[in-house]
Amino acid sequence: MKRLPNQTECIGCGICLEVCPTNCLSFFENAEGFRQIKSEEDLCIKCNKCERYCPVLQDGKSDNYDKEEISVYACQHIDKEILKNSSSGGFFSALCEALFNLYQGKVTVYGASLQKDLTVKHIGVSFMEELSLIRGSKYLQSDITSVLTSIKERLQNGEFVLFSGTPCQIAALYSFLKDSYPTLFTCEVICHGIPSDLHFRKQNEDLEAKVGASISSINFRSKSICWTIPTTQYCFSNGKVRYYRALENNFMGSFYSGINLRPSCYGCKYAKLPRLADITMGDFWKIGESACFSFMDKEKGISLALCNNTKGKFLFESAKYLLKFEPRKIEEAIRGNVHLIQPVKNKSIQRECLLSDIKLLEMDKVAKKYNKISFRKRLSMIMGRRGMKAYYYLKNIRHIK
Ligand SMILES: Cc1cc2nc3c(=O)[nH]c(=O)nc-3n(C[C@H](O)[C@H](O)[C@H](O)COP(=O)(O)OP(=O)(O)OC[C@H]3O[C@@H](n4cnc5c(N)ncnc54)[C@H](O)[C@@H]3O)c2cc1C
Ligand code: SF4
Ligand code: SF4
Ligand code: SF4
Repeated sequence: MKRLPNQTECIGCGICLEVCPTNCLSFFENAEGFRQIKSEEDLCIKCNKCERYCPVLQDGKSDNYDKEEISVYACQHIDKEILKNSSSGGFFSALCEALFNLYQGKVTVYGASLQKDLTVKHIGVSFMEELSLIRGSKYLQSDITSVLTSIKERLQNGEFVLFSGTPCQIAALYSFLKDSYPTLFTCEVICHGIPSDLHFRKQNEDLEAKVGASISSINFRSKSICWTIPTTQYCFSNGKVRYYRALENNFMGSFYSGINLRPSCYGCKYAKLPRLADITMGDFWKIGESACFSFMDKEKGISLALCNNTKGKFLFESAKYLLKFEPRKIEEAIRGNVHLIQPVKNKSIQRECLLSDIKLLEMDKVAKKYNKISFRKRLSMIMGRRGMKAYYYLKNIRHIK
């Protein structure tokens, strides 16, 4: 092993681990709470396979593009229940259902799933009934290493695979596979970064101590107020359910403001056009006047879908019957979602202080120090979730038809 990326560049994908013939590489959690690679030099036979497969060391170019323009859509799943349980407009579920229907029994969809121990890993699902396991955003790094070999085997057998993940995970998969496969479809989230596992655990410990029970599940993007004011829903083993807005939850607040992210995210080489995957999906923030979507539609979640090539366009066409949709302009998409073309800014001093403080201080003290709460925000905290919901809809009553 000559030159693997350093701690600032490594995306923690684990491809090097998977291809190393002597198993001399492994993951450890660094002091900031991010997955990092360590090696046992004695076992290394200097074959350089890890370097040849590491996505960060590849040129990052994609031959996955047509010269045609990208198609851009705003869309929303027509099924109310699926829409409610999806983080944006449920576009991802529509893609999966369309593929399951098209190639019955021959499709596996890989996506991020929250485990019982509250870690996140990629799993494969082959039936609509299992789709809920990978629906919804989990704002943690997902481990893809355990699915790589099965993806390759399925593709080699001519089966259809839809892989969804962060853009760096798409790059990692392409790098692992090396060959291109006609039956592989890829779908990436617009990604502003993944936060520290350590910060996540500290936040959880604090909430568990307050509620007096362990956390059994988390919905990182509950729409319990509305899509544009996301809350995080925590379910506890004693049956209690708690909702926190970003300003009431230091972990999520820091994630949204980009101060607890993996170092590689601040220099993300995948935050650019053209995109890497067949499809790029995200939240259509700041969508303007629309003949298709009412104010209330917009409060339930609108997906942004970019079809980046022929495969992406084929996927979108196949899923149209499950969607309400409207073509939009790429400039509008970028205006509401700048991470389509540039990485998040590194507020490095604040970040370093925060990630060191979470080890030393109680979470209440961390929150006091970093969650700067204005008078308006304090008022909204006093109003609580239900009060906020009532206030929000009263304020916007003129838009509700
Ligand atoms: C870490 C992260 C950061 C994001 N940042 C932005 C952003 O800045 N702007 C924006 O518009 N959208 C962002 N998104 C995407 C957005 O939250 C929605 O996931 C996306 O719009 C799809 O929503 P949906 O309703 O179509 O489907 P959903 O069912 O909500 O999407 C689920 C899909 O997202 C994938 N996914 C969920 N969690 C992870 C994870 N931890 N790692 C890899 N893949 C995951 C799953 O594999 C699954 O396929 C981010 C998502 C993640 C996971
Ligand atoms: S050079 Fe070969 S043996 Fe050494 S770490 Fe890399 S893959 Fe493993
Ligand atoms: S393959 Fe992935 S985990 Fe390994 S060094 Fe490269 S970026 Fe880091
Ligand atoms: S911001 Fe870039 S490097 Fe960070 S998780 Fe997202 S795609 Fe990967």
